[in-house]
Amino acid sequence: MVRFWVLIAIVAAIVFVVIWILDDADLPRHEKLEQIEHDVVCSEGSLSGCAICLEAYVACERRATISSCGHRFHAHCIEAWLRENNSCPLCRHRLV
Ligand SMILES: [Zn+2]
Ligand SMILES: [Zn+2]
Repeated sequence: MVRFWVLIAIVAAIVFVVIWILDDADLPRHEKLEQIEHDVVCSEGSLSGCAICLEAYVACERRATISSCGHRFHAHCIEAWLRENNSCPLCRHRLV
């Protein structure tokens, strides 16, 4: 009878680990963020702006470039955008 409970415990442990792994397998967001290059640009003027919040760039703030299509946005804007979407907000280039 003890063996039965040991078996139950092992099965429960396996189920727990599988759920944990599946939960952790929510990787697309991670992959998306890996395709973004962060930089801080201080020299650029205010000619261009962020297409997400439509505000002009201020010198020396943190920006992020999507490496596959080259479009640049505020770092915090593109991070928030990619939490809900899988594509570039400007050209719809898919990241996942
Ligand atoms: Zn922005
Ligand atoms: Zn793009």
